[in-house]
Amino acid sequence: MHLSEAVRGITPSMTIGMDDRARQLRRQGVDVISFAAGEPDFDTPDAVKNAAIAAIREGFTKYTGPAGIPELRAAVAAHLKETYGVTYAPDEIVITAAGKPALYFALQAICEPGDEVLLPIPAWVSYAEQVRLVGARSVFVPTDAASGWQPLPDRVAPLVSSRTRAIILTSPHNPTGAVYDRETLDGIVRLSERHGFALLSDEIYGSMVYDGAHHICVPAEWPSARDRIVLLNSMSKTYAMTGWRIGYAAAPRPIAGAITDLQGHLAGNPNSIAQKAALHALTAHVDLREMVAEYDRRRRFMVGRLNEIAGVSCGMPRGAFYAFPDVQELLGRGGAPATSLALAERLLDEAHVAVVPGEAFESPGFLRLSYATSMECIREGTARIAKLLAPYVVRV
Ligand code: PLP
Repeated sequence: MHLSEAVRGITPSMTIGMDDRARQLRRQGVDVISFAAGEPDFDTPDAVKNAAIAAIREGFTKYTGPAGIPELRAAVAAHLKETYGVTYAPDEIVITAAGKPALYFALQAICEPGDEVLLPIPAWVSYAEQVRLVGARSVFVPTDAASGWQPLPDRVAPLVSSRTRAIILTSPHNPTGAVYDRETLDGIVRLSERHGFALLSDEIYGSMVYDGAHHICVPAEWPSARDRIVLLNSMSKTYAMTGWRIGYAAAPRPIAGAITDLQGHLAGNPNSIAQKAALHALTAHVDLREMVAEYDRRRRFMVGRLNEIAGVSCGMPRGAFYAFPDVQELLGRGGAPATSLALAERLLDEAHVAVVPGEAFESPGFLRLSYATSMECIREGTARIAKLLAPYVVRV
């Protein structure tokens, strides 16, 4: 059967791919340590699970409205008000099957074929694919470690064109762990105002910031830009609910309505039972402090270990749960693989450690390691990496 050009152009997610390979090796009995998955190792809180079990028992197992159940939409609006002081009416909130479709529907709602979407790189793996699937084109905005991976407005400005429809902002950031500062965001908001493009603000890691870093919720900080902002979020990372598939978009009514219509035709509605679980997570004020404190301990430990390896240099991430070490100094030296992709493959094959190469994020020369895994795994995994890299290091 014919396969469409759009589908033939899809690059499978390398993060999922690496994690799958790690799982396969594990099934074969290999002792693999995976830093590849962007997934909390914590279990979903019991109270959240119980809310889902109660929903099943009560027979809450039928279709819901295409924008989600009213109580959850209201709970999201209340949560945004309470946490960030930003006001959304419940009918400006659309509950989706987690963050991925929320972003896709938002892009579909605003982009015409041939439009351009500004994308700071490194960039999370699915952004460019989703932009392409709606017929638009990603325009990469370079960022670098020296400037804390901030999408500097003076690098964004020359890339704006008459076709620019949106910019995707991710703070805290996957894969770099950057937390965008006020000045950076302010410059971008001003550009969006001048040129009339939308701000798609993916704040999925907003609850995970460290070292006193402050997460800025974009519509809360720039209420005057609200009509151009789509706020995207999800229960996946915050509440360790990746498998439940519940997220949301908060947007002005015409966009929220368009996202609802798209979802109505493409997915019907998000899972009814998972919506009840999400409702509980938001209304019972599940305490996240211990989880975040544990990520913080692991973050410092992992980055410390990585920086002890000669030829590896890793800045301290300020948010999310990823370290993004620079391995360029090692590549191609003393028998080391020439690319970060080949290095990641060698780490998996020979050291049985799964990491994601920077190539997945349009940034070769780096590796992404998730520290949403146990301290023991981090200790053992970084020791294996150090051992595998040691022979190359001597010759750097
Ligand atoms: N946005 C970012 C930056 C992510 O890292 C992820 C998941 O890795 C998502 C969105 C989507 O997550 P989900 O669809 O599980 O909500």
